[in-house]
Amino acid sequence: MTPSTTPSPPRPRIALIAHDKKKDDMISLAGEYLDFLKGCTLSATGTTGGRLANELGLEVERKQSGPVGGDLQIGAQLVDGGIDCVIFLRDPMTPQPHEPDINALVRACDVHDVACATNVSTARLVLSQLMAARSQS
Ligand code: PGA
Repeated sequence: MTPSTTPSPPRPRIALIAHDKKKDDMISLAGEYLDFLKGCTLSATGTTGGRLANELGLEVERKQSGPVGGDLQIGAQLVDGGIDCVIFLRDPMTPQPHEPDINALVRACDVHDVACATNVSTARLVLSQLMAARSQS
């Protein structure tokens, strides 16, 4: 058989971040899309990434924890063109010590027109769309 010369489509590059009270939601969400996420290149803040790796077996590039700069590291990766989509499950009910970093990351998404889902319903829409686009390519 002749080997295919069609290049495989690029793997979606997704950043995953969840505040503490949203981490269980992130694990459930990632579990729903597990097969798709296994075919993506994933970055995450430290604790979120650790749970995704340990509980779901996902391969994740782990940045620092959010409160010590992880959100900023994700932001820098995004500004450099290395992220296609951010799933950022924020906790709107709890003040965060790194609020400026959170705002900086969301702002960077808007500046660079990168999809940023900040709740589970939006995340499902974004992940479903990425999954459909990938299955058509
Ligand atoms: P964490 O960071 O995944 O290290 O908890 C998330 C955040 O608080 O921004």
